Amino acid sequence: MGNRIKKGDIVQIISGKSAIKGKMGKVLKVLRKSDKVIVEGLNLMKKSTKADPANNKQGGIVEEPAPLKMSKVMPYCNACHKGVRVKYERANGKVIRKCVSCDAVLEYK
Ligand SMILES: [Zn+2]
Repeated sequence: MGNRIKKGDIVQIISGKSAIKGKMGKVLKVLRKSDKVIVEGLNLMKKSTKADPANNKQGGIVEEPAPLKMSKVMPYCNACHKGVRVKYERANGKVIRKCVSCDAVLEYK
């Protein structure tokens, strides 16, 4: 079984808080152990940071994306214009991911 979601994928939030439902973003990190993903610009949480004079950083509040449950996101299909279910196929010895609805290869570059 391949990885349903990989770093660099564009995903859409398909459930969860209404504020971010339906939004899209790029996967920055996949947390396999906890089955979560971090998506750029989504699910922002305020986090206080300490001043770090050695690195010329001021302390304060920064917003960082918090992990989302992987089950809440789906890879975005450019042809279907939505988050879609994925199927796997073998091609030239590689496993490729395809959109279940339209058969498009899901690749994000
Ligand atoms: Zn599709």
